[in-house]
Amino acid sequence: MTKAFVDGQWLAPKSGDQFSVSDPATGNEITLLSDCGIHETEMAIDAAHNAFPAWSRKSPYERSNFLSKIADLLTKNADKIAPIITLENGKPYKEAFGEVLYSASYFKWFAEEAVRIYGDTIPTRSASSKATATKHPIGVCAAITPWNFPLAMLARKAGAALAAGCTLVAKPAEDTPLSALTLAKIFEEADLTNGVFNVLPASSPVEIGKVLTTHPKIKKVSFTGSTDVGRILYTQSAPSLKKLSLELGGNAPFIVFESADIDLAVKGLMQAKFRNAGQTCICANRIFVHKNVRDKFVSKLSEKVSKLKVGNGFSEETMIGPLINSAAMKKVSSLLEDAVSKNANIITGGQKSPAGDLFFSPTIISNLNSDMEIAREEIFGPIIPIFEFDAEQEATIAANATDYGLAAYIYTEQLSQAWRVSDALEFGMVGINETQISDAAAPFGGINQSGFGREGSKYGLDDYLEIKYRLFGNLR
Ligand code: NAP
Repeated sequence: MTKAFVDGQWLAPKSGDQFSVSDPATGNEITLLSDCGIHETEMAIDAAHNAFPAWSRKSPYERSNFLSKIADLLTKNADKIAPIITLENGKPYKEAFGEVLYSASYFKWFAEEAVRIYGDTIPTRSASSKATATKHPIGVCAAITPWNFPLAMLARKAGAALAAGCTLVAKPAEDTPLSALTLAKIFEEADLTNGVFNVLPASSPVEIGKVLTTHPKIKKVSFTGSTDVGRILYTQSAPSLKKLSLELGGNAPFIVFESADIDLAVKGLMQAKFRNAGQTCICANRIFVHKNVRDKFVSKLSEKVSKLKVGNGFSEETMIGPLINSAAMKKVSSLLEDAVSKNANIITGGQKSPAGDLFFSPTIISNLNSDMEIAREEIFGPIIPIFEFDAEQEATIAANATDYGLAAYIYTEQLSQAWRVSDALEFGMVGINETQISDAAAPFGGINQSGFGREGSKYGLDDYLEIKYRLFGNLR
């Protein structure tokens, strides 16, 4: 698994170029991998294009059986795949194991959805006409995925694309290509038809991204990553009018109202904030707490946060692993420095952890204002910024004061308030007294600068399908 997976074969680029993948917990090199470029990308696109007619003509039941097989193989091999995720991403083993099962759940879900791609018959104006709308796979698709869920983000795209009858060319993140190649190995074990699923490890994404967004044989690009890169891909795709799904960054508000069950809110925040060391797109990013429950909430939260164990993801007691790389460490440190320089209060943490170069101590800060960068930016690290509010409307306005619109959370025991506030929040997903919102059955996705398109759920197939309208006239 140190080469690209193209047309059902393990391929080393002609150039012989390689790049190094390292363990963020130790800095040690894990392995050298084939470094793909334009040539290999074009080969993969051709392979996916050649595989498309046979794959798209398979019966939905055949495709469903194949995807079920992938789900079963992932589940059966979870204890072998999880260490690969921990090694290259750093997340605690338990989280990595959960990610494998979560990935399997998407293949299982889309195996079930593959046989439910219904169309319509449409009533016509003439008695001698019949009209239908049927759904068809869009063609060869490209997937560009991030490092924070190196298996799951690809599984979510591959499950939907293949269920719909599309074939796929995937480019995983430079920091975490091994999980995607492991998925390719699983496809190989499941007797994949050549070219249906291709993976291109690479250290320079720009040229590959240009090929994927401009090549005439690619009909759709699905991207998960930062808003900045999403914009580049959107622009590049415009001349060929490629269909796009953009799952981009977030800046999730987490609002604790006066009536909230404080213990439940603390538990929810711990889960929403510290998963993957705070490096998820739906991590709670700005915490708004009603002034009458603020002290109680912060005191309970601080107690829990101070008990979090930071360390190597392979250690059983670790709850927080490393940040992914030195750029991430720089960003998190600089957001904190900016806030502190503008009078933020550190309640707990507030510095790098002695566990290693890329480890950051779980931190709570307060006394914040909207001039601070931390109030506007996606933190992507284990920092909890606490803002205080008085009136409901004040909290809603502050929560919506972001260009992002991915996830939001509210904690309240008042049903009317839950409806009212969740209606007013301009986000694609809202968790009410719950932060575990991701599920294969859920339409995952954002609005505004968090992108468009939905992954998972019954809507997840739509982005990989075209609708064909047929009118049969003059029937006798
Ligand atoms: P990123 O820098 O945008 O990278 C994501 C992917 O895009 C990587 O494979 C990267 O390759 C590639 N890439 C970078 N520049 C490119 C270019 N010019 N052309 C084509 N591909 C390019 O994001 P990240 O730092 O890995 O991930 C974190 C971001 O993803 C956060 O903003 C997070 O919120 C977001 N995210 C969103 C969701 C969601 O579902 N909405 C889920 C997870 C993460 P390299 O690795 O080689 O740079």
